[in-house]
Amino acid sequence: MLPVVALVGRPNVGKSTLFNVMTGSRDALVADLPGVTRDRHYGVCRRGERPFVVIDTGGLSGVEIDDLSIAAARQVRLAIAESAAVVFMVDARDGLMPQDRSILDELRRCGKPLLLAVNKTDGLDVATALAEFAALGASHVLPIAASHSRGLDDLLQVLAEWLPPDSADAAAVEDPDAIRVAMVGRPNVGKSTLVNRLLGEERLVVSETAGTTRDSIRVPLERDGQRYVLVDTAGVRRRARVDDGLEKLSVIKTLGTLEQVEVAVLLLDAGEGITDQDLTLIGHVLASGRALVIAANKWDGMDSYARTQCKSGLERRLDFVPWAQVVFISGLHGSGLRELMRAVRRAHASATTELVASSLTRTLEQAVTAYQPPLVRGHMPKLRFAHPGGHAPPSIIIHGSRTAHLAPAYRKYLENFFRRRYKLVGTPVRIDFRDGE
Ligand code: GDP
Ligand code: GDP
Repeated sequence: MLPVVALVGRPNVGKSTLFNVMTGSRDALVADLPGVTRDRHYGVCRRGERPFVVIDTGGLSGVEIDDLSIAAARQVRLAIAESAAVVFMVDARDGLMPQDRSILDELRRCGKPLLLAVNKTDGLDVATALAEFAALGASHVLPIAASHSRGLDDLLQVLAEWLPPDSADAAAVEDPDAIRVAMVGRPNVGKSTLVNRLLGEERLVVSETAGTTRDSIRVPLERDGQRYVLVDTAGVRRRARVDDGLEKLSVIKTLGTLEQVEVAVLLLDAGEGITDQDLTLIGHVLASGRALVIAANKWDGMDSYARTQCKSGLERRLDFVPWAQVVFISGLHGSGLRELMRAVRRAHASATTELVASSLTRTLEQAVTAYQPPLVRGHMPKLRFAHPGGHAPPSIIIHGSRTAHLAPAYRKYLENFFRRRYKLVGTPVRIDFRDGE
């Protein structure tokens, strides 16, 4: 599981700004999608040596934190209890406020490694700004300017020392030919039923690998000659619920799980249609860069009218992920599972396609020949060559000039051209442009 870092502080000290900077790089995949709901409370920071979950506790409570002991702060407390380290933010421009002291007192009681981040030091004399907060007696203090990304590297370095050592070896020693899959979805959409069905049919032994921090369960599965590992599948360990409150923090778990897989199957309840919570989960999958298959479950209980309604609803609300395959299944009866696993294999194949520079460049030339980019102030943007930019998601870097002026519709056209050419289905594809002579 990913370690957790909580951002704590009074309103307006800059928590959400720092949160955005820390989680920002991948969120770019999600930011411009009108259909998707972004989760502003939880994100994954991938900018340091190893990824971790960041929680903006200000976003969590939704109310002003006058005092961490008020009832609305329960969520915040849970978040802190889950975290490996806490970043306590103060505002250098406001100076030390009484509220800062009370929050800090509370934080000290929970005994987590604590970093005091003195924010908004841009344009200030740093020594003076820090001096004011010396009275708090914090052992680790850093001046930062979140809105300028200043101090971020130092902050990440301190945190890196506090985070527990990487325990992702389970994935490393595992069967390299297996596709790692996670079933994600709201409670009660049928994740456990589906997993048990998949396992039951294949009569497989459930093996538990004890994780170091939290129980991380990985189940091997073989179907139609393909091996899979189901990661952290809720249902296997049937409701060994810890605490109801923690259920709400299951998003932390989902984020950690997504790190360990190649493909996420988002399960939704077809009878209920797609909910905002489903869309938020899709947002997390997109931000993780993982391949995505959408499974509309409980298809068995629906008449043809309801099925038509559901299909058109899904089409409408999922138009921001036109590349994701939607399958209609019944985990209970086992229908559609072959199609589901086929979609998983296809998404995996797309996500792991080895793109080659020469071929990408040829494809780019064909795309441009077929349809030239529209002129920008009388000049044509030039697209010269392309090369692969990395995996998860597959990314393509296109070099040219005036690319900043390429219309979104043209970018979309290029993406679709590459998708068709390389049969990329079920995975986000990232296209970045670089200008240079
Ligand atoms: P939150 O309520 O703690 O989440 O605070 P926000 O992130 O919403 O920030 C509150 C205000 O402070 C916003 O207007 C930010 O633009 C501003 N802000 C955040 N970080 C900095 C910074 O490093 N320097 C300056 N000058 N302003 C900042
Ligand atoms: P989870 O919380 O996502 O793991 O959901 P469960 O697997 O525990 O399922 C929640 C409820 O939905 C249970 O009562 C299941 O029997 C029911 N359920 C799960 N899959 C299906 C399905 O395909 N069809 C129908 N009709 N019910 C289902």
